[in-house]
Amino acid sequence: MSFWDRIKPSTPAATATDTRLSPDGSRLELTWDDGARSAATAQLLRQQCPCAACVDEWTNQRTLDQTKVPADLRVKQLQQVGNYALTFNFSDGHTTGIYPWKLLREVTQPIS
Ligand SMILES: [Zn+2]
Repeated sequence: MSFWDRIKPSTPAATATDTRLSPDGSRLELTWDDGARSAATAQLLRQQCPCAACVDEWTNQRTLDQTKVPADLRVKQLQQVGNYALTFNFSDGHTTGIYPWKLLREVTQPIS
């Protein structure tokens, strides 16, 4: 799947109906409109950042060194973008990633 397939908002994709950040900002939990729930750590979200500073726009190669993202990274703030994506204010100061629901669904792990 290409980078562009992941970032363009596509209509039939699942939508998160609830977004819950843990009190310490280390973990995000999502509830989806189909009833599924999934979660990801702030570290993983940062590693999967789709912004132009982290992924080369032309080659789709990830330029971010994922091993440099510390395990204790936190999400300081999250904000919804329209009805299709979330953005995160990470504790390392990175704020440019826009995470469409489709990407979030892919990178988070299902929980019961
Ligand atoms: Zn980024």
